Amino acid sequence: MVTIRGDQRPVPRGATFDMAVRVFGLWPAPGDLLDVQGRPLRPGIDAGYVTLDGRHETGNPVLRDGQVLRVVDGTDRTEALTHVVIPVPAGQPGNPQFFLGNAPGDQIVTRGALSGEVVSTVFRASGPVHRPQRVALTFDDGPWPATTPSVMEILRRLGVRATFFDVGYLARARPDLVRQELEAGMVVGNHSWDHPITPPFRELPRKRIASEIRRTSAELEAIGAAPQLFRPPGGSYSPWMLREAARQGVRVVLWSVDPRDWQPGTTARRIVHAVLSHVRPGSIILLHDGGGDRSATVRALPRIIRGIRKMGLAFGVPSLTAN
Ligand SMILES: [Zn+2]
Repeated sequence: MVTIRGDQRPVPRGATFDMAVRVFGLWPAPGDLLDVQGRPLRPGIDAGYVTLDGRHETGNPVLRDGQVLRVVDGTDRTEALTHVVIPVPAGQPGNPQFFLGNAPGDQIVTRGALSGEVVSTVFRASGPVHRPQRVALTFDDGPWPATTPSVMEILRRLGVRATFFDVGYLARARPDLVRQELEAGMVVGNHSWDHPITPPFRELPRKRIASEIRRTSAELEAIGAAPQLFRPPGGSYSPWMLREAARQGVRVVLWSVDPRDWQPGTTARRIVHAVLSHVRPGSIILLHDGGGDRSATVRALPRIIRGIRKMGLAFGVPSLTAN
């Protein structure tokens, strides 16, 4: 008799550890390496193992009566974080741009070491800061039929000009929604053709990165927009990608406030709090009008707008000047 997963099981005399693993299906569930957003980056990186009497067994011994086999599943790990310092010269908006206005200093970006996805950004000024008394609302991952019209309706009703980073293939499917954004005076930016996130955007082959930007700009232009801004999926960028975007005439815009409104189970209340507790003059706020159920974002939006106005701040859009 041996104990397997807590149950007494008979095994034939001379049975080995490997035989028991096969016969009783002792296959650990593998653990994944996750990116900073919790998505699998390298699936199955931790295979897990089976213990014999509490020790990780790597050989194939003959089992003895009374021994205990236990399955230890692999564990999920999250990639490491790296901090990147980007010097921002005075007199021009940074590229990538994290906030509205101009100030010399360093932009400190914390991102996933493997995915390059941005977790947080902090600006450390080294000279006089000229931050306008404005913030920018930006909406990613649309146009999205279930949400974009509601977002537009709220913005129109409250008189807010915002920026929409549209996904190319979604714009092709619903050019009418992009046209509505333009007719309402919104800024329409490029958010890649089909929003690739695995592997992270900056790790894609250069040809693919270039075509993701080019196809989307062409599609948006055909609909009547003149995109001058680009936001890479997940905020994942590299120096080469910044240069390629500049070659194609689009400035890269990231954000400084991220309420993670895409997170399953989040609430309007949590989104409102996350925005209003972090917002300051010049903030660029990341929200989503597409990519899934964004009803919490829609419910949060009027409260976000009123809260920001109560702080004495107005609404603007990222700098559209050349790189
Ligand atoms: Zn996105």
